[in-house]
Parts: sequence; C-alpha cells; structure tokens
Amino acid sequence: MKNILLIYTGGTIGMQKEGKDSLVPFNFDSILNAFPELKECDANVEHVSTKNAIDSSDMNTENWVEISKIIEKQYNQYDSFVILHGTDTMAYTASALSFMLEGLNKGVILTGSQIPIGARRTDAKENLITAIEIAASDKISEVCIYFEDKLFRGNRTVKVNSENFEAFESPHLPALAQVGINIKYNTSLLRNKDTKQLSVSENMNTDISVLKLFPGISEKIVKSIIENSETTVMESFGSGNSTSNKKFISILKEAIENGKIIVNCSQCLRGSVQQGKYENSSELKRIGVISAKDMTTETAITKLMYLRGKGLKNDEIKTQFKLSLRGEITV
Ligand code: ASP
Repeated sequence: MKNILLIYTGGTIGMQKEGKDSLVPFNFDSILNAFPELKECDANVEHVSTKNAIDSSDMNTENWVEISKIIEKQYNQYDSFVILHGTDTMAYTASALSFMLEGLNKGVILTGSQIPIGARRTDAKENLITAIEIAASDKISEVCIYFEDKLFRGNRTVKVNSENFEAFESPHLPALAQVGINIKYNTSLLRNKDTKQLSVSENMNTDISVLKLFPGISEKIVKSIIENSETTVMESFGSGNSTSNKKFISILKEAIENGKIIVNCSQCLRGSVQQGKYENSSELKRIGVISAKDMTTETAITKLMYLRGKGLKNDEIKTQFKLSLRGEITV
C-alpha cells in the first residue's frame, strides 16, 4: 500500500455555511465526518492541515512556502501528496509549487470541488478519491491538478468556469490522464523523475505587476503600472500585439533600458505569442520585451516570482524565463 499525505488548505471542498449565507472554510474534521469512506481507500492516507484553512482567494506566497515546507518535511515518509485547495487560485498555487519544489520526483496532486463535500450533489468525493488513486499510482512525479475527470499539468492549467464542474482547462497541453471506467494516462507527456534531491526555493519576489491592454488605455496608467514594479507581465492582444502608439512603445523601451523586465502574454486562451508576426509586435521584440510564448499568465507571474526570488541577474532571468524548467512552455 502506498502512503499518501493529504494536505488540507481550505477551499469550497471543506466549507460550510456559517451564520449568514456565505461559505467559510472549516477544519479538516468536517471533511472526515462528511466522507468516512476516505478511511477505506486503497492507500494509507494520513492528513495534515495548514495553519489556517482559507478561501484560496486569500492565498499568498507565505502559504506556498508553508505548503512546500510540509512536503519537504514529510518527503521521505510518503510516496505522494494530495493537496485540497480552493479552485480560485489553484492554478497559481500549482504553478508556484512546480517551481518552488526543486528536484521533485513524487506526485503532488491538487484538487478541490465546486460544491462542499457535505452537500448532496458534491463533486468533492470523486475528485478526492481519484486524486488519491492517481497519487498512489506511482506514475506522476510533478505538480498536477486533478479535476472532473482530467489530470492536468499544474503549470499549464487555468480556471475557466466558476459554475460548472469542469472548472479547469489546459489550453496548450492535452490532459495527462483522462478518467472514465479506467484511468488512461498519456504516458508520453508525463515528466520523468528528477534525479536531484528535493529542495524548496522559498524566496518568491512579489514585485510584479500585470498590465492588461485594452483599446484606449492611457499613457498615465501604462506608466504607473510599469514604473511601480520591477517586473511586468503584459497581457497583449492576439498573438502578442500591442498598440503601435509611439509614446506607449517609448514608455516600455525606457523601462527596459532602466533594468525592468517586461514579458508578453496573450489575452487569448489558446495560441502562442509570436512577436514579429505582425508589425504591431515587431517593435516590442526590438525593444526587448520577452515573449511568454504559450505560457499562461498564472505561470508567467509565478515563474518570474521564482526567478526574481533567486536574485539572478536580468540576463539570466530572461534566459531562464524562455526555457522549459518544469514543462510549463512549449519549446
Ligand atoms: N472561493 C473558493 C476558493 O477558492 C472557491 C472554490 O474553492 O471553489 O477557496
């Protein structure tokens, strides 16, 4: 029997209505009470909770360090880990952990639910039981999200629906496994085990802004967003296009010359940034904006937090940003 550690962080899966009408997370006992079958899994499942069970909208880098440290401390005692997490920021946490857990060679599967585990029509039980089964399979050695029949690479995942059970998609990479009567793994996509020792990269630099372009965005806004952070993830149009307005380009150019890093992610869910395909992105390439290609915004943000947190020089950050460190970009 495999040993699995279940790490409870909060989220809808463990929520109940308290007083008024809003859902708030409860402690892990509420999950065990609502789901006694958990004790009868085909794996030896033990559990631990983070200091506070939270709505994942409250997630921050300290919580990521807390989760990573739990995994590091328990790494040799367990075969894999399942993290119960709210869906709102699950894609960010999965991306962040994929970078922070250096040398990972065990499965870390995040899951949660759209309806609390105690409710009649809950999706929590299937998600949790299957996540445990996948974790116990010994096939996964990376950070993944399991949700509603599909296993995704965590750093390729985005939350696309706040209502349907199919809350997540992986727009640039097929599912790593599809769950029906059997669990069918897409073995050619699974990452190989890392041969290094596990270590946690704790420093996540949050001096990052997101600049979402829209037609008519003012120079004042562009300037204040870029000036007030060391690193900016720009969400551009289509295949990486921006306005060709000279003032806009000169704000970006000056920022880059002054040592800031600006990366280009697309607002589109599918397709890749291709700077230079249109004249409206050629100038971005010329002034040194870095293409995030098919990385999600969630991943671009957390990858930059991680790389900046290592205290690397700008050139090294730019070089590493373009590489696939954990399968997060198609190269
Ligand atoms: N607000 C909740 C959370 O992210 C939503 C959920 O879990 O589905 O914690």
